[in-house]
Amino acid sequence: MRFFALQELANRRPLEVNIPSNKLSDYYGSHVFDRKKMQEYLPREAYKAVTNAIEKGTPINREMADLIANGMKSWAKSLNVTHYTHWFQPLTDGTAEKHDGFIEFGEDAEVIERFSGKLLIQQEPDASSFPNGGIRNTFEARGYTAWDVSSPACVVDSTLCIPTIFISYTGEALDYKTPLLKALAAVDKAATEICQLFDKSVNRVYANLGWEQEYFLVDLALYNARPDLCLTGRTLMGHSSAKDQQLEDHYFGSIPPRVTAFMKELEIECHKLGIPAKTRHNEAAPNQFELAPIFENVNLANDHNQLVMDLMKRIARKHNFVVLLHEKPYNGVNGSGKHNNWSLCTDTGINLFSPGKNPKSNLLFLTFLVNVLMMVYKNQNLLRASIASAGNSHRLGANEAPPSIFSIFLGKQLSGILDEFASHIDSKQAGIESKTTLKLGIGRIPEILLDTTDRNRTSPFAFTGNRFEFRAAGASANCAAAMIAINAAMANQLNEFKASIDKLMEEGLNKDEALFRALRQAIIESEPIRFEGDGYSEEWKQEAARRGLSNISHVPEALTHYVDNQSRAVLIGERIFNETELACRLEVELEKYTMKVQIESRVLGDLALNHIVPTAVSYQNRLLENLRGLKEIFSPEEYEVMSADRKDLVRDISRRVTAIKMQVAEMTEARRVANHKDNFKEKAYAYEETVRPYLESIREHIDHLEMEIDDEMWPLPKYRELMFTK
Ligand code: ADP
Ligand code: MG
Repeated sequence: MRFFALQELANRRPLEVNIPSNKLSDYYGSHVFDRKKMQEYLPREAYKAVTNAIEKGTPINREMADLIANGMKSWAKSLNVTHYTHWFQPLTDGTAEKHDGFIEFGEDAEVIERFSGKLLIQQEPDASSFPNGGIRNTFEARGYTAWDVSSPACVVDSTLCIPTIFISYTGEALDYKTPLLKALAAVDKAATEICQLFDKSVNRVYANLGWEQEYFLVDLALYNARPDLCLTGRTLMGHSSAKDQQLEDHYFGSIPPRVTAFMKELEIECHKLGIPAKTRHNEAAPNQFELAPIFENVNLANDHNQLVMDLMKRIARKHNFVVLLHEKPYNGVNGSGKHNNWSLCTDTGINLFSPGKNPKSNLLFLTFLVNVLMMVYKNQNLLRASIASAGNSHRLGANEAPPSIFSIFLGKQLSGILDEFASHIDSKQAGIESKTTLKLGIGRIPEILLDTTDRNRTSPFAFTGNRFEFRAAGASANCAAAMIAINAAMANQLNEFKASIDKLMEEGLNKDEALFRALRQAIIESEPIRFEGDGYSEEWKQEAARRGLSNISHVPEALTHYVDNQSRAVLIGERIFNETELACRLEVELEKYTMKVQIESRVLGDLALNHIVPTAVSYQNRLLENLRGLKEIFSPEEYEVMSADRKDLVRDISRRVTAIKMQVAEMTEARRVANHKDNFKEKAYAYEETVRPYLESIREHIDHLEMEIDDEMWPLPKYRELMFTK
């Protein structure tokens, strides 16, 4: 398999990619049912109904729905579309869709093409095969998908895709989009109230997301020759290559032509779908790349990320690549994350994480900044739960990865300004009220930020001038999980902050003084979350422990913090989930974790026993033959000298083969015991504590054997082949 794959690889050539037009605007958004197309294809009143629904949340009545569906169908047919699908985001990785044709029987049983408002607005896919954490009884397998008007329909692969939410028959969310929309509404409401302390004209606050999708490409033939990659998305074995990322020559280096062709086509398809793909570059590891669009509002940005992950997989195949979205496909080299750049912006056009031009607007900026500090400080465990997964745990908290500690990097100067602010005892002293002279540095913030170019790459939550960059999210994750946590937690924090100001004002303080006191207290209280140093260092682990910050690398334990008191105060308190939904969320996550480790463990066991052990034994036989030959020909004295190293090798191979066989048997037994646990939590804990360690220890023996055994005999493509070939 391996050599066949390498031969195929030698014959690969870059594919030709046709650019639809030299002018991007000729085809940008051509496959999106956007406002321009709505105006063209919808009667006036139907157009109004959609825009009202988008802007004000007004319901769309049946008559209008029919008109909209009809217009949508006409537009879709202009792109030769025959099918439509309600596209949704179940709690598995990726998206789900069920395709239906526009075909129907008319009154006289004749075939007609139809797409009614009813079909546009709501559907009932069989939900029983999606994870639901026990929400639905088996006899009631129905779930609903309902159109999310705020994200436009589009045409992907000749199918009309209608973005939808997915809820159970009893009304509980079974997807990522439903709670995301709730979290966004919650942060909108809470942030607007705070803004109104400064500016009454603010009516809405939008959250923005700019994601950066990292991924690896691997040649299709080599991928197919690695059962572990095919079945688990990562390599479960493989000795590190003699050269990997040490030289860092790959980062920003030139991109191989086959890869460029893939990227070009991917970008064209993104642009047709109105996804503003902007940057592409090599990442730290060989054959690792990144795609980042211009930021958009969170809901749309997240739909676009889901579409992109899908597009990537499909287009990669065409170019004889497989895209790996796993967080750690290869041990020993950089993993893949998905940085979430997050900001809040008012309907009056003010970025709340961007310092303004005058002291008053800087105070608004400072207010939001300080509330982010508090939000992260209080919700470290919820944030961690939102990104914890089997795959991501290799990126965070594992041996060669940064620790799983949350901290915020602000930059020294901005951090200094906060300290200075908090050192004053009242707003007068701090100079808040004075319009002309400013004692503290609030007035200097814009200049200072221009200087703050030292972007700390090791911080999991970094302030980068006009946004926060949440770097802990994994490459394969749905950004919604992190965005639900962050926006809900921010809503909760802002609500508490507002309540504390109200209380101080009730006690007789004026608004400025109340604001000052609340800010000062938050700055002091949240101080432990600020960290400017190396987030990957051993000292930080100790320092963080002294500061009382949590550091949890045990995945199921990290997940169970979804239901700790603080997380419940946020998620249930802000009405993002109800009790049942939250319990289900946790159950689904624990179950996903268990299944992933279970599959990895089975695959490793199989490969060890039927690929590795037989190869090791064959090679050992060759060594034994060699030893017998030497003994026959040479004198006993000569033989002793000549055979010593080979005998050692035979011994070592024997020792490792025995260890592998024993450990595979033990691991199978550990799995059996774990499988008998009768609740999700215990099962996940058992997999983490008793099964998972074998993945490491078995692999270690295999990786040694890889170095000992003749390269010609090794059955699986090696790291150097997977990572360096074009
Ligand atoms: P880097 O790799 O240096 O972090 P990139 O250019 O790869 O930077 O990605 C930055 C991402 O941040 C882009 O998706 C960009 O659109 C996004 N971004 C920029 N400004 C904001 C903002 N105010 N809010 C949210 N995202 C933003
Ligand atoms: Mg980044």
